[in-house]
Order: sequence, then structure tokens, then C-alpha cells
Amino acid sequence: MPDEDNQRITQTLAKIHHKLLVLSGKGGVGKSTIATHLALTLANKGKKVGLMDCDFHGPSIPKLLGIEGKKPIITDQGMQPIKVQPNLSVMSISFFLPESDAPVIWRGPIKMGAIRQFLSDVSWGDLDYLIIDLPPGTGDEPLSVAQLIPGADGAVIVTTPQDVALLSVRKSVVFVRKIGMPVVGIVENMSGFSCPHCGQTIDIFKTGGGKKASSDFAVPFLGCIPLDPAIVEEGDAGHTPKYKADSQVSKAFNSITSNIENVVNHSKR
Ligand code: ADP
Repeated sequence: MPDEDNQRITQTLAKIHHKLLVLSGKGGVGKSTIATHLALTLANKGKKVGLMDCDFHGPSIPKLLGIEGKKPIITDQGMQPIKVQPNLSVMSISFFLPESDAPVIWRGPIKMGAIRQFLSDVSWGDLDYLIIDLPPGTGDEPLSVAQLIPGADGAVIVTTPQDVALLSVRKSVVFVRKIGMPVVGIVENMSGFSCPHCGQTIDIFKTGGGKKASSDFAVPFLGCIPLDPAIVEEGDAGHTPKYKADSQVSKAFNSITSNIENVVNHSKR
């Protein structure tokens, strides 16, 4: 990458206290959902938060927050992210696509150019946290994006509990370590389903795999999120998701967010 680009990215990101990457070894495990709720929960706690959607192949964050089709304005300060609430701003590749269902068929260098522009030209201002939703997998794309983010605090790895997904979490841990980034921890999503009729918990995709992978790799386990139809409904609703404060989902997001804050605050260089 040209030095000039490097410098601009470093300058823009210098105003951001904590930078966290959210990744998963494969798609469909709830990575974007968790990135979104992590950002929302931090913002609701009064932190200034930016959420950056770098998932070219499934840029779903605007949909999850009900801001699809918004067009960021460009000022002398740079591209202005979309404000979702007073202390939560969002930037997504999907804002620059002609239609929300248009497949992204840009070649690698163009994609990386767009990511570089996101990183250097978005006017985030001062932030406590920037949450970055990476493309899924452990291939060239997430690798290139991760390498463009200097001084990130680390990566939150999202998995589902079953073995097939856990193979990919192992790859993710190796991937993050290879690029010399700390692993903030593992989140196990879709972990158990609480039957609304009998109240019993059914482990549709098994449970405990994320915790086992955490102990195998000696990385923090950040917590579980249950499989809950409310997450799908709120995600599809076209507005900022809201759950009852005493719901299992709400408690799970709060606890995971606190665990992440603890890890990054104790390891901040
Ligand atoms: P990814 O970013 O890993 O591709 P998404 O966050 O887009 O995955 O989630 C894929 C789908 O799964 C979405 O429809 C989302 O609402 C749903 N989903 C995610 N987590 C849960 C959960 N814990 N319970 C129920 N549905 C979920």
C-alpha cells in the first residue's frame, strides 16, 4: 500500500480509542448481527461508536438497522457516516451500490481501494469504539482488510456451536494470530433454543463448542447468544432492533459486551 494511504488511514484511525474486528470462519453464523448489537449495546452505554460494514458479499448491517438505501454526504471533512442514534454512526459498502440486491463483483484491487477509502476518508471524529464487520472466512479478503487496520485491539470471533462451524473457528484463531492481532475472544451464537411452549432449552446446534474451542486455544470465552426468533424478526423489521431488557437475548448481548470491554481495557497497550 502506498505510504500516503497508510498515513491517511493512521491519521483517521488515531482519533479512535478502540478498534475491534468481528469475524467468522464462514458466513451465516450471525457475525453481522453480533457486530451490530455490540455497537448498539456500547452506544446505549453512552460510548461513542462507529460501525463499519466491510462485508462486500453480504453487507447486511444497514438492513439490520433500518438504514438501507441511505446516501452518505461528502463534506470537506470527508464522507459522513449515517447517524443511527446520537452516538452511533454507520458506514457500509452497500450505501455505494446501485441497488441493495446488487451482487458485488468488483475485483480484488477495486475492493481494497474502496476499503482503503472507507478507512481513510470516513469522518468518524472522536470515537470510543470502531466495530468493523469483516467479510466471512479466512481468505484474502478478510486478510487484506485486517491488515489495513493499524493498532486494532483485536478480533471477536463468532461461531455456532456445532463441529462443522468449530472447524472454521479454529481456522479463524490461527488466522488472527498469523497477522499478529490479539484474539479478544469467542462468541457462541445460536446456542440453545428456549421453547416458548414448555420453557425447556433445546440445543438445536448442540452447545458448549465455543467454550471448548476457547479453552483449547487459551483465548477468552465471551459468552453465548441463544437461538431466538426475535433476532430474525427484529433484523427484518427495518428499524433499530429492540428487545425487552429482561429478555435472554438482551442479557446475553449486555454480558458479552461487558466481557469485551473488560478484555480490551485490560490489554490496551
Ligand atoms: P453473518 O454475518 O455471519 O453472515 P448474519 O448476522 O447476517 O450472519 O445472520 C444470518 C441470519 O441469522 C440473519 O437472518 C439473522 O437474523 C439470523 N440470526 C443471527 N443470530 C441469530 C440468533 N441467535 N437467533 C436467531 N437468528 C439469528
